[in-house]
Amino acid sequence: MSEYTAPLKDISFLLKHVVGLDEVGKLPGCEEVTEDLVEAILSEAGKFAAEVIAPLNRPGDIEGAQIHDGKVTTPKGFKEAYWKYVEGGWSLIKGPVHYGGQGLPHIVATPVAEMLGSANMAFKLCPLLTGGAIEALEQHGSQALKDTYLANMVAGKWTGTMNLTEPQAGSDLAQVRTKAIPQGDGTYKLSGQKIFITYGEHDYTENIIHLVLARVEGAPEGVKGISLFVVPKFLVNADGSIGARNDVKCASIEHKLGIHASPTCVMMYGEEGGAIGYPVGEINRGLEYMFVMMNAARLGVGLEGVSISERAYQHALVWARERVQGRPTVPVPASLGTAPKSVPIIYHPDVKRMLMTMRAYTEAARALIYWTSKCLDVAELSADASEKRMNQALVDLMIPIVKGWSTEVGIEATSLGVQVHGGMGFIEETGAAQYYRDARISAIYEGTTGIQALDLVGRKVGKEGGATAKALIAEMRKLLPPLQAASDTNLRAMAVSLKRGIDEFERATDWIVTVFRDNPGAVNAGCVHYLKLAGTVSGAWIMARSAMVAAEMLSKNEGDADFLKAKLITARFFSDHILPFADGYAQAVVAGADSVLQMEEAYF
Ligand SMILES: Cc1cc2nc3c(=O)[nH]c(=O)nc-3n(C[C@H](O)[C@H](O)[C@H](O)COP(=O)(O)OP(=O)(O)OC[C@H]3O[C@@H](n4cnc5c(N)ncnc54)[C@H](O)[C@@H]3O)c2cc1C
Repeated sequence: MSEYTAPLKDISFLLKHVVGLDEVGKLPGCEEVTEDLVEAILSEAGKFAAEVIAPLNRPGDIEGAQIHDGKVTTPKGFKEAYWKYVEGGWSLIKGPVHYGGQGLPHIVATPVAEMLGSANMAFKLCPLLTGGAIEALEQHGSQALKDTYLANMVAGKWTGTMNLTEPQAGSDLAQVRTKAIPQGDGTYKLSGQKIFITYGEHDYTENIIHLVLARVEGAPEGVKGISLFVVPKFLVNADGSIGARNDVKCASIEHKLGIHASPTCVMMYGEEGGAIGYPVGEINRGLEYMFVMMNAARLGVGLEGVSISERAYQHALVWARERVQGRPTVPVPASLGTAPKSVPIIYHPDVKRMLMTMRAYTEAARALIYWTSKCLDVAELSADASEKRMNQALVDLMIPIVKGWSTEVGIEATSLGVQVHGGMGFIEETGAAQYYRDARISAIYEGTTGIQALDLVGRKVGKEGGATAKALIAEMRKLLPPLQAASDTNLRAMAVSLKRGIDEFERATDWIVTVFRDNPGAVNAGCVHYLKLAGTVSGAWIMARSAMVAAEMLSKNEGDADFLKAKLITARFFSDHILPFADGYAQAVVAGADSVLQMEEAYF
């Protein structure tokens, strides 16, 4: 079985030296968020993830969630682990203080979630969705709804779900058909079918609070006629106790490529007269409210790319140190003998390249997501209106990038993890294959990479004339002079590639701004390339920032020299081996539309 070690040193380096934990500590309400407190929380979270949750990952994959007579059970040990999670207070981290939560900022909650996801992605999904449901209710629910549900959800006694998808309504939520009929007393009766609902039914808790998109009878067609409802599995009595069973049930669960331990449910609403639902906010504004939940969830799913890459990397590294094959082509330590006939595969440059690619993707995506979390904290908590606005704009731009890019590179990293294992990577008992299978869904749910890219080029770049992307590009350019002036040769080499990458990002952004209004189809033909371009260049930028800190600390003999050298070299690797793809992405954006648009449907 593969072990998981929480990468606390990497996390702490990033928080302290690269993404600005201290800035968050200065925000109103965050006075207690000190380095010491955060370190203590993260070290406990890492221990919990490694010791309690990680050992269930592989057995959970083999056993999977089950359904018998409508009752869904999670694999052996999951329910007990969930209650340890609750008793350890982990569900409280981000929850609102007024309802018993600790109200800690995103910059703290994000690394905790990362470690849970590395330990066991299927397990982590339940808290992820509950967190999204809490956020949507907190922001848009009536006082009565909040008072009825939030304390138990924050405490982890009840879990939450997100019910958007229907057989005919996936990426296109305008097609939602679930019906809601007003009962005249403020409640509605819902009927319809939802599919693919994560943790729609399970055995962890006594109640499950579903947030459901539905259409009130007579509502306008399309997205303007969609409303959001709370539909509890069990109704809640006036005194807060559990009441009658609501008319919602799980009809079946899906057999899937990965995340086997997470039940993916077909949910039937109103087969016996109507499921009682309570509207969240105003009728017909449901999609807008659900977007609150989706943004939090998109950041969380982007983080899954980091979690799963980290776990796959740790696994592949152990293998590469143990598996002995082939003569070395580079000098090897004397301990391996003089002219050894075969050496551990980690000494082969191509295997090093694979491991370094996994590591570079993981570090860059982690840094970008932590930085976005910091921007989110500033946007939510800053007392300065213009700082708030600027950070919110950055978050809006970065959400599709980190969701789309981090999950795509997560697939690549886990695929490399299989490759490092050779044939044994393809054999399930090694465990590497599970990460690859689990990673695959992250680029699909919460909006596919294609949908994230459409959001990026349309709502984010096209509509605002590229203003925020240009602001980010200007920020990135500020790093060039200190990189160019550095005494370290790695940093100077990185300055050359980074400048070129930023120029390409700007060229593609300008092209989109010019073309989007008159020819959105041409922009959309290359939108995923643009998303990858944005992720690659932003990743290189944040890696270069991390490398500058490492170089400075090394020059002052501060910190752990091997750790800092690895940071510097990994950033240089990103710059040499991954950033050059930016040229290709940019070229495909600005010159790739013709072939896509010429190909008529009949030619396929
Ligand atoms: C394991 C799992 C868990 C899930 N959990 C949940 C959950 O908890 N709650 C929930 O509500 N849903 C959930 N989903 C549903 C998930 O969010 C959807 O599957 C996803 O959004 C894609 O929708 P779809 O499957 O209908 O694909 P489609 O929308 O049919 O997309 C098919 C392909 O077409 C592309 N495409 C679609 N529209 C466009 C367009 N306009 N322009 C360009 N390309 C387009 C897509 O990018 C994709 O490549 C889950 C799904 C799975 C498999």
